[in-house]
This record gives sequence, C-alpha cells and structure tokens, in this order.
Amino acid sequence: MRSNEAVAAVSAPVQSVPLFDLKRQQARLRSDIDVRISRVLDHGQFILGPEVDALERDLAAFAGARHCIAVSSGRDALIMALMALGAGPGDAVFVPAFTFSATAGVVASVGASPVFVDVNETTFNMNPEALETVVSQVVADGVLRPLAVMPVDLYGRPADYPAIAEIAARHNIQVVADAAQSFGGSLGDTSVGALAPISCTSFYPTKPLGAFGDGGAVFTEDDKLAEAVSQIRTHGRQGDGDEALRLGMTGRLDTIQAAVLQAKLAVFADELARRQEVAERYNAALSDAIATPLNEQGIGSAWALYTVRLPNRDDIRARLQADGVSTALFYRIPLNRHPAFAKYLTGREELPVSERLSAEVLSLPMGPDITDDEVDYVIERLLAAVA
Ligand SMILES: *Cc1c(COP(=O)(O)O)cnc(C)c1O
Repeated sequence: MRSNEAVAAVSAPVQSVPLFDLKRQQARLRSDIDVRISRVLDHGQFILGPEVDALERDLAAFAGARHCIAVSSGRDALIMALMALGAGPGDAVFVPAFTFSATAGVVASVGASPVFVDVNETTFNMNPEALETVVSQVVADGVLRPLAVMPVDLYGRPADYPAIAEIAARHNIQVVADAAQSFGGSLGDTSVGALAPISCTSFYPTKPLGAFGDGGAVFTEDDKLAEAVSQIRTHGRQGDGDEALRLGMTGRLDTIQAAVLQAKLAVFADELARRQEVAERYNAALSDAIATPLNEQGIGSAWALYTVRLPNRDDIRARLQADGVSTALFYRIPLNRHPAFAKYLTGREELPVSERLSAEVLSLPMGPDITDDEVDYVIERLLAAVA
C-alpha cells in the first residue's frame, strides 16, 4: 500500500463491512487474470484445455495429493466421488447434520440414503462417537448397507479424520471428505486433499479458493478411483474414446475458470496467512466476551468463515446490521429439518448439538482483503451489542 492510501485508509472511518469482498481481490489480480483469459480466447480450447491440466498438477502439488481431477462444482465433485464408489439405492452414507444442504443432497441424488450424525459442540464437525453409535444402529437394523462416511470440514477446519478413519476401517466403510470449505487447510503435516482416500472441494466464488463461476475438484490417493472420476467427468468415456464405459455426466471445469484459478492459486498461500491473522485478531478481542472458534496448534483452518456462537443471535445480528456490519447464518436449519430429506428420517435421530448450533451461529466478515480497521469496527460493534 502506498503511503497516501494508508493515510486515506486511516482517516476514513469505517461505516460498513461486507461479509465477503471479492472486488478487492479482483482489483489486485485483474491484470494477471486478463492476460490468462486472453490466452484461452486465443488458443480456443475451452474444454479441458492446457490450463486445466496445469491447474490439476498445481492443485495436487499444493495439497500433496496423488491425483487431482478438476470438475464443474463442489456438488458435482461429491456426486462423481459417490458414483465412482458405486453408491446407489440401499446404501447408507453418514453425514453431519450441521452443514450445507448439498452434503446430504448429493447422497440422495445418487439414490443412496443420507444418515445424519450429530456434531461436536466446539469444532462444529462430525462427532466420531456419534458416528460410531449411528453406524452400529444401521448395522443392527439390517435395512441399509453402510457404504461411506462423508465428514465436512465446516468453516474451513478439517474434521477429525484420524478418529473417523479408525471407525470407518472397523466397519469397512469408505471415507469421502466434503472439503468444499477447507481447501488450504491441514492437520499436522497433511493438507486437505490428502486427508482422506477421496476428497472433494468447491471453487464457488466465495470459497477460500474461488473461481469466477462454478468449479470444484476431486483429490484421491487411489489410481482406480482417479480413473473412474475422470471417466465419469466426460460421459463415462476414456479420454477421446467414443465408448461409454460407465454412466457419467458433463462434469468438467471450464478452461477459462482454470485460468482464473491459476492466478488465484499463485497468491493463495498469502491469502490463507491473512485469513489466519484476521481470525486471530477477532479471537484475541472477542474470546473473553463470547464463544469464538477454536484456533489450535497443528489444526490449520482455511477460515472460509469466521463463526461465533451467541444465545441471542438474531437480536445481535439485527443490531450489527443496523451498524453496517453484514453477517450470515451458516446454517440456520439442520439437515434433518429440510423438507427434501424428510423421507430419510428414522425418527431416532439424536442431534441436539446440531439443533443448538443452528440457532446460535453467526458468521462475521472474513476474507484476505478485509482491513484491520474493518475487523476492529466489527469487534467494537459486536462487543457493544453483547454488552
Ligand atoms: C459449497 C459447498 C458445497 C457445494 O459446492 P458447490 O461448488 O456450490 O456445488 C458442498 N458442501 C459444502 C459443505 C459446501 O460448503
């Protein structure tokens, strides 16, 4: 920042803070993105052009994953992963009850049955003990065949993969990571993308690594699954072959989106570091007054969202709105209460934490381009509202 801009930033008092601000990032990267998009227009390979191959290599390297297949969205990534595993009618896929509706929607879309598992009060992620209980119930019922567990890395924080992998191995079920919010996160030395045998992420514009449209990726350590997903991505065909080897879909990432993502991936590590800084600034100022997210050594969050808990959430949200602070409710409705999933309920669900969190969570402005002054304004207004 040049010094005259710094002075302007200090002298203009903050009056409103958006939840996400994608315009500032675009301004930072615009000239690079323009060049990269022009290159695609010049070569004209809009479907699976060279930028897609290059992006897949770079994403796999970033994540330390063996394979990366770039696809059309996060939802399609999950659907293709489930198709590659052969999921269908009669299969149970265990999902957390507190997440975006797509997590259960993809399971239903392939004809399998989502089975809801409660989450942990402080990590917001799938509770491994609850998973054990629910898998055992499904086994005892003998109606559905347990096929897979789909943990979600909510708000960017990786789920408890070591504990979930142990349970999955014992029950002989697959682990499919819904890492839509967490690309860039890590557990110890292992990055999101390599934490499960198959992981799916999203490049929806407001995700930590966002395109200028829809996009996603599947990461896997398994050569056979990688081959299956890449066939499913193009109508079930192998490469340019005209034979449908399996059922597939139109699930490719556009070359133009790959070009945009290459520009964004080049600065992604710096953006993740800034998100971490913002989360720490919030935590330092807010943790004595309200319930703030965990920030633990060795657990790297991508900080897709910074989410606090407030018993009187709706009142506080209205006061912040009046003060110009935009917030959002991720998620206001646990999955068991969505009409689309009513037919999968057994009536035995025990989801008290998911129910409580959906009434109490509030996501505050977050992103790599939010300024310290804006963070401080949000902090000041929030502390005034809860006082
Ligand atoms: C965003 C999201 C998805 C879906 O990703 P799209 O790219 O929007 O299809 C799936 N699961 C979770 C948890 C998400 O946050």
